[in-house]
Amino acid sequence: MASEKNLPLPSDADLRRLIHFSAGDGRIWLAGHRMVLLHLGGLANLRKELIQTIGIEQTRRVLKRAGYESGVRDATLARQVRPNASPFEQFAVGPQLHMLEGAVQVTPEYCDFNLEEGNHHGIFRWDHSWEVESHMRDFGPQTEPVCWMLIGYASGFTTAFFGKEFLYKEVQCAACGHEHCRIEGRPLEDWPDGEQLMEDYRADSLLVRIEDLQADLESLRVSLSPSDDLGELIGRSKAFEKSIELLRKAAGTQVTVLLTGETGVGKERFARTLHAMSPRAKKPFIAVNCAALPHELIESELFGAEKGAFTGAGAARPGRFERADGGTLFLDELGELPPSAQAKLLRVLQTGEVERLGATAVRKVDVRVVAATNVDLEAAVAAGRFRRDLMYRLNVYPIAIPPLRDRSEDIEPLANHMLHKFMALHNKRVAGISDRALDAMRNYPWPGNVRELENLIERGLIISPPGQMVDVDDLFAVAPVAPPVTLSESGELKQAVPADLDTLFDELQKRGLSLEALEDALIQQAVDRAGGNLSAAARALGLTRPQLSYRLQRIRER
Ligand SMILES: [Zn+2]
Repeated sequence: MASEKNLPLPSDADLRRLIHFSAGDGRIWLAGHRMVLLHLGGLANLRKELIQTIGIEQTRRVLKRAGYESGVRDATLARQVRPNASPFEQFAVGPQLHMLEGAVQVTPEYCDFNLEEGNHHGIFRWDHSWEVESHMRDFGPQTEPVCWMLIGYASGFTTAFFGKEFLYKEVQCAACGHEHCRIEGRPLEDWPDGEQLMEDYRADSLLVRIEDLQADLESLRVSLSPSDDLGELIGRSKAFEKSIELLRKAAGTQVTVLLTGETGVGKERFARTLHAMSPRAKKPFIAVNCAALPHELIESELFGAEKGAFTGAGAARPGRFERADGGTLFLDELGELPPSAQAKLLRVLQTGEVERLGATAVRKVDVRVVAATNVDLEAAVAAGRFRRDLMYRLNVYPIAIPPLRDRSEDIEPLANHMLHKFMALHNKRVAGISDRALDAMRNYPWPGNVRELENLIERGLIISPPGQMVDVDDLFAVAPVAPPVTLSESGELKQAVPADLDTLFDELQKRGLSLEALEDALIQQAVDRAGGNLSAAARALGLTRPQLSYRLQRIRER
């Protein structure tokens, strides 16, 4: 058991480096966590109004839990920032961040650790607590401690740091006439009144029950309907809303719909949703991927075959058109359809009749066709690979589905929905997706669109530790984020510099690369990686879009 008294705190330079001011896009980061710099006066007013509205008991619980959440988040940084430091120095990340965040001055008075047994006993002195300051101003001297958010932070940090329940208690508070606030922390079971104090940290039992039920319902819903199609068309961006509006208007009609868009944008989900919203919803939805079927089989698959129509046709078989009777037939990757099948498809669309291979009679079918393509049909027509008359027949009501990079505000709701779906599927729970990871996702150009996002989320869930947040490292090998601005020792902002600057410089020398050539190459690389999206490329370089455009112009003029 290592025990130490009146310990000096290590330097907090490593922690100050974690603070990044990204004023250009209105954000401040503490490593992976988004922070807010707010006026104490505003926060104090919120605290006062909470007390006046919901009472002192409820406010204490709410603020303790809010502080607890902050402490849990800061604990994720402790071992990460000081991997090789002593247990005390690692633990000191909590008190030191608490100071850096402007909450309170912390002086360690006693601290011991037994990491193997997960045991810890600590006593810290607090001065300048913001809660004492604001509470005294609004309500005068007190008989009970008032540093609720602060004590919540200490308990949350310690609990997350050790991975078992710890409770910090405010044994003296400056609001009660003591010279300082003083806190003491022990494992929960070592406090005789621990369970009672812990009540403040448990979310209201009814709310917990409702949350549990919601989680149960979600996994039931997912397991009952593995395709879950209607639910997966998620978004609120203008581009997405526009496509959905077109889809809604088409749903009630019989019009042939052509869905266009890049690979992975979710054309089949749009087609299924169209079907589900249409009067045909109770009839079959049949999907055919024209690129996945061998050319020699595609006609018998689509239109059916009579017995003996061709080698291997042992028995008469209805085609997908007949199976979709009364419902919807979805033809994906339509541009891949061979010419003879194109001619037959045109005839079915014109007459509403199919003729099985080898048949002498035709059959009436009532099928609504939804086609999809990621190739430019006009170009395919011009190149002689696609029939012009068929294109006109299909291109009555085109709906363009936007690529994911044009709907960045949809990424968060989509990612959260997918995360819940995969949590149910893999029976694994995580706490959510970190702010930093979401930010990185919004900066990524998504060449594989929604499908790529789905793959990334599933992988991220599998990689990240249970109960924690899916973070940027779980998703990307190299995070697509803007270069940080950080806090110097004197408190000034400065551009963060990579640690391996020496190596970089040596490399430049070796290659004989000039500064100008390096700048050109970096700009080109950023534009390429962002898939030509200049806004994203500018963000990645820490430039504004006009600044980037200016530099690109200059490169081209050289
Ligand atoms: Zn206090």
